[in-house]
Amino acid sequence: MSDYIQDLMIEVKAKNPSQPEFHQAVEEVAESLILVLDRHPEYRAAKILERIIEPERVIMFRVPWVDDQGEVQVNRGFRIEMNSAIGPYKGGLRFHPSVNLGILKFLAFEQVFKNSLTTLPMGGGKGGSDFDPKGKNDNEVMRFCQSFMTELYRHIGPNTDVPAGDIGVGGREIGYLFGQYKKLRNEFTGVLTGKGLNWGGSLIRPEATGFGAVYFAAEMLKTRKDTLEGKKCLVSGSGNVAQFTTEKLLELGARVLTLSDSSGYIYDEEGITAEKLEFVKELKNVRRGRIKEYAEKYSSAVYESVDATADHSPLWDHKADCAFPSATQNEINGKDAQNLLNNGVFVVSEGANMPTNLEGVKLFLSEGILYGPGKAANAGGVAVSGLEMTQNTMRLPWTREEVDQRLQQIMKSIHETCKVVAERFGTPGNYVNGANIGGFLKVADAMIDQGIV
Ligand code: NDP
Repeated sequence: MSDYIQDLMIEVKAKNPSQPEFHQAVEEVAESLILVLDRHPEYRAAKILERIIEPERVIMFRVPWVDDQGEVQVNRGFRIEMNSAIGPYKGGLRFHPSVNLGILKFLAFEQVFKNSLTTLPMGGGKGGSDFDPKGKNDNEVMRFCQSFMTELYRHIGPNTDVPAGDIGVGGREIGYLFGQYKKLRNEFTGVLTGKGLNWGGSLIRPEATGFGAVYFAAEMLKTRKDTLEGKKCLVSGSGNVAQFTTEKLLELGARVLTLSDSSGYIYDEEGITAEKLEFVKELKNVRRGRIKEYAEKYSSAVYESVDATADHSPLWDHKADCAFPSATQNEINGKDAQNLLNNGVFVVSEGANMPTNLEGVKLFLSEGILYGPGKAANAGGVAVSGLEMTQNTMRLPWTREEVDQRLQQIMKSIHETCKVVAERFGTPGNYVNGANIGGFLKVADAMIDQGIV
């Protein structure tokens, strides 16, 4: 690590104590950016890196609501408005008990680079709450969402900040949030993305992150004149991203062997079929059940519960060609990464944000596998959110084919940017450097153009 990065990290840790995920995200990006800062002293002089790691604004607020037993509950709400140099703040809302300031800052930071890579004019933001939708009924979720929006509405708007979904925030939550925003503001605008199809949503938005992660993997394989056909794939998670990653992999002839949730994972030696995937969608999106039920229904599958404190995850210890981590941050540690390599995995395309820790990333890079970091590989979701904003502004919906075509084009272009930038900075094949530097340059130049603000 260079002296400059070392000093920067000391300061980041001192100024942002107890935010390990944020430190991790900054360190990974800073290690790539040193290549740029060495060549471009103007960025260092303008303190772009020091400015880009400091959110433009952090909003934290109380979210009180009443549960079905009549008991008052108090959660904490957040919105991190990280960077608006190239467009309005844009990024999802996460509802999960683990949510805290540090996790949302890491996500907002990553979002700045990701959004820049999409080629669309979107700044970076992220928000959410430590509210846990699990075990709550629709009315409780609605009351929570209404209380959350009763504060958030002051800070967002179609040209200011446009939130979307993330873990724990799907179509149902976006609906309740949008309804409350509309009531408070008395205006129907594209202030949120991931909306329902008959009230301003875009076709392909639910599919976009998962489809995009698969398109990115296909682009990486193309550089080795290979395809996804017949490839054995490990997928983690069973939510939005995991479901549509699986759907697209099946469409392209790959075999998907695993899915998981926070309790455990299933391994289906015969592979997950389209019919089995429909069962998972109903299980997770309608009945809101646990993935364990998959193994109870299909005898070809075994279920293993996962111990979050163990030193590795057994999900990543199976023979396969490709891995699509699609659950959460740091789900692949150094040992998991080594297990993946030992089992023959040579493609990793990250649907989740920062699912691989720094040790794992270093291993993937040193082994020269096709490793697509989340910033690039999962940018399809926000890209189609950007397309939803465009359709809202035009008040004209595009067809499924048109949106999917644009998504594929954007994923191709992100892949190309990462590849070309990695080569230009002397690290061919390193998609981490490609994504970090590629995303940075556009934002940095815009920041210089706009002065010290
Ligand atoms: P969902 O809430 O739909 O699904 C999340 C899945 O991951 C669930 O299966 C959940 O299991 C599992 N999970 C969540 N937290 C943990 C944990 N701490 N340990 C183990 N498993 C966990 O979320 P999404 O599919 O939307 O998001 C998944 C990932 O993709 C996240 O990293 C998100 O930031 C990223 N992402 C999502 C985008 C989108 O468009 N939705 C866009 C870009 C990135 P359980 O039900 O048990 O909690």
